[in-house]
Amino acid sequence: MTASTHLAVGAAFGLTAQRCLSSSVSDPEKLFWSFAAGFVSHILLDAFPHQEYSFGGTKLGIVLFVEITAMLVLLLSPDRPLMTNAIIFFGMVGGALPDVIELAHRYIVNWPWLDALGTKIHFCHGTISLGPMVNFNTQFLVALIAVIFVRLRPVS
Ligand SMILES: [Zn+2]
Repeated sequence: MTASTHLAVGAAFGLTAQRCLSSSVSDPEKLFWSFAAGFVSHILLDAFPHQEYSFGGTKLGIVLFVEITAMLVLLLSPDRPLMTNAIIFFGMVGGALPDVIELAHRYIVNWPWLDALGTKIHFCHGTISLGPMVNFNTQFLVALIAVIFVRLRPVS
């Protein structure tokens, strides 16, 4: 699945998770739950059979750089409190981490345990079939809806 989708949905899940927390929760706890919700969103999204990048190497690096930059610009906002931006950011990190682990194993460090961890996290990858594969257009649409949700969510 594209990085944009994981980053935007991770941010949306991280923000939504805040509604389940009591008002006495500390800031680090808020960030932790945002990260955890983003992480869960990755597993949920990947459970649906989906189109993947058909390339690797430098081309993938460039595409990921563009996607990550675009999502940082679209999801974070200087008009919002630092804590709101931090919650969004931690959701993005949680949403991206499972694939970062796989990419780190593929391109940076060839540790077998990292490969095993990436495989374990992706245990339900593509297991929930609702018909056709989720193609890039649908993934882009989901990312767009998540961006709008994050941007429209009132500052709290
Ligand atoms: Zn993944």
